[in-house]
Amino acid sequence: MPELPEVEHVKRGIQPYVVGEKINRVIFSSKVIEGKKQQRETIIKGMALDTFQTFTEGYVIDAIERRSKYIVFHLEKDGATRILISHLGMAGGFFIVNHVDDIPVENYRKHWHVIFELSNGKQLVYSDIRRFGEIRNVPSFEAYPSFLQIAPEPFDHDALNYYLACFDHKRYYDKPIKQMILDHRVISGCGNIYACEALFRAGIHPARKTQDLNHQEREMLFLYVREVLEEGIKNGGTSISDYRHADGNTGTMQLHLNVYKQKTCKVCNSMIATQVIATRNSHFCPTCQK
Ligand SMILES: [Zn+2]
Repeated sequence: MPELPEVEHVKRGIQPYVVGEKINRVIFSSKVIEGKKQQRETIIKGMALDTFQTFTEGYVIDAIERRSKYIVFHLEKDGATRILISHLGMAGGFFIVNHVDDIPVENYRKHWHVIFELSNGKQLVYSDIRRFGEIRNVPSFEAYPSFLQIAPEPFDHDALNYYLACFDHKRYYDKPIKQMILDHRVISGCGNIYACEALFRAGIHPARKTQDLNHQEREMLFLYVREVLEEGIKNGGTSISDYRHADGNTGTMQLHLNVYKQKTCKVCNSMIATQVIATRNSHFCPTCQK
């Protein structure tokens, strides 16, 4: 699953080619068209396909940003604004090409679902092998309430205090700390891989109850989450799944992982343990993490 660092790289990869460009035409794959007819809402959510085209075609992409694991496109046409909110799901990705046949990875070439034809002659293509991704066209963020619940970006100055305040929330009282930091209402965009790695660096067992952590541990854990996400971005993300960057290249963060899908601990040589916590597989060192 693309995590925050991978999504950041997708955004950086396409940004120079899309900002300031007009979207001349939107083309959907037969899977998207068929899915819509059968009310499966394939990729394009909450809107008929022709309405989506009406509110996208002829609009200029003013800006693009990443928020948590979403990529957001700000559109403008004659003073009217729209927002495209996209999530890459399990295995989605955007590509910038002259033609969809130029997508460098076969699987992504075969599984394109939405093509945005841009005024610079490029195509912005959304491909998704498993079709769990989504693209919404909304008039404002208020039209997609779950988006508004996302915590501040982990690199924002208010993110730490926001996270610390969540420990007082009843919802998280007797939850495992791993479950709490995966919640995007607590920390924005901390997915499973990075949560496992941050807990290892902090020496905290993923199943510990949130209330059991003292102030220093809580704060330290947040700083490690931020650190592993920063390293993930620096290393171009992980390429454990079949994810590829917009240019078809892969990241190298998997070479820097200490516990996620590792066999032995690099610090103490213990066998790495796994345990399902809140439906997600946690990888941890039973000796180093208490
Ligand atoms: Zn260890």
